[in-house]
Amino acid sequence: MTDADTILELINVSKQFGGIQAVENFDLKIKKGELHCLIGPNGAGKTTVFKLITGVYPVSSGRILFRNQDITNKNPTARAKLGISLKMQIPGIYEDLTLYENLKLAATNYIQGDKMLKEIDRLIHLVRLDTLGNPIVKNMSHGQQQWLEIAMVLVASPELLLLDEPAAGMGPEETNFTAELVRELNAQGITILFIDHDMDFVRKIAKKVTVLHYGRKFAEGTIEDIEKHDGVKKIYLGSE
Ligand code: ATP
Repeated sequence: MTDADTILELINVSKQFGGIQAVENFDLKIKKGELHCLIGPNGAGKTTVFKLITGVYPVSSGRILFRNQDITNKNPTARAKLGISLKMQIPGIYEDLTLYENLKLAATNYIQGDKMLKEIDRLIHLVRLDTLGNPIVKNMSHGQQQWLEIAMVLVASPELLLLDEPAAGMGPEETNFTAELVRELNAQGITILFIDHDMDFVRKIAKKVTVLHYGRKFAEGTIEDIEKHDGVKKIYLGSE
C-alpha cells in the first residue's frame, strides 16, 4: 500500500550488472506535483535509477509502483502509456527533419488531426520555439534542440516527467530558460524528477533532493538541508 498522494514509489530496489552493484536497496517516494532532483557523484547510479523507472532495465530485486499500481514487470511502452516519460541527455530527435516533422512523428501515437496540430502549436509556444519558423533541426542551437525534445516528450501528456540533465551543455541564458520551463511544467501539474550536476540549476528549481552514493540513498531533504549536510559536502559538493 502507498499514500494516495504518492505518484511513484521504489521499494528496496536493487540492480546488478554482473559483479557491479549499480543500485542497492534503494527506496524513493515521489509525491504528486513534486519537483524532485537526484544528485550524486559520477557512477552513483542515477541514470540506472531512471532506466529502472522507465523499464529500460528490469530490476534485480524490489518493486516499483506508479499511481499505486505495481509496474515492476511492465515494459517501457506500457509504462509510457501509463504516464511516465523520459527525456535523456542525448536528444532523440531526427536532425535532418524539420521542427514540425519531429513533433508530428512524436505525436502520432497519441493524438491525430486538428487536435494534434493545435497541441503541437501550443507546445512550440511553451518551449519558445515559435519564432523560428520550421527549421531543419540540425540548424537549431543545442538549447533549442533540447527544448524541442522536451516538447516531443510532452505530446504524450505525461504525469511524471523524468529529465536527465536538462541543462547540460547550455550557456547561462539557455540554462535560465530551461529552469523557467521546468518550473512552468511543474506549475501546470506535471510531477518532475530530474538528474543534474549543476548545483546552481538544482538550487533554482528543486523542492526536494535525493543524494545517491554507490547506488544507495545517502541523504534526502530540501536543497538547504542537502547543502548543509557535511557528508554530502564531502562526497559531492567539494569543499563549499
Ligand atoms: P554519471 O553521473 O556519470 O552519469 P550515474 O550516477 O548516472 O553516473 P550510472 O550510469 O547509473 O551512474 O552507473 C552506475 C554504475 O553502474 C556504474 O558503476 C556504471 O559503470 C554501472 N553501469 C551502468 N550501466 C551499466 C551497464 N549497462 N552495464 C554494466 N554496468 C553498468
